[in-house]
Amino acid sequence: MKVVASSEYIFAVYEGAIRYIVCLERKTCSCGRFQHDEILCAHAMTVSKKKNIKDVHLYCSDYYKLDALTNTYAVTIEPLSHKSDWIAPESIMEEVLLSPRY
Ligand SMILES: [Zn+2]
Repeated sequence: MKVVASSEYIFAVYEGAIRYIVCLERKTCSCGRFQHDEILCAHAMTVSKKKNIKDVHLYCSDYYKLDALTNTYAVTIEPLSHKSDWIAPESIMEEVLLSPRY
């Protein structure tokens, strides 16, 4: 991919005939993945390599960082008893859980 700087933070990234606009300051790319996934898309990653950015973690959501993973499991997770011992309302037990459509 070819990278052309428009400013300190805004870049055009050419992938074949398609042009994507990456803004590192707003953490966006016109492909939509950078802002949606909150982690660098291929275009933003190409820009980071072109700019020789060593710490790409600055452009990632905290959800992808070790502290978030550690904090997720910081609380005690109580083991469940056998399913036959569960006390659940009948309305819950009658619900049918279907797999996602997509
Ligand atoms: Zn992108």
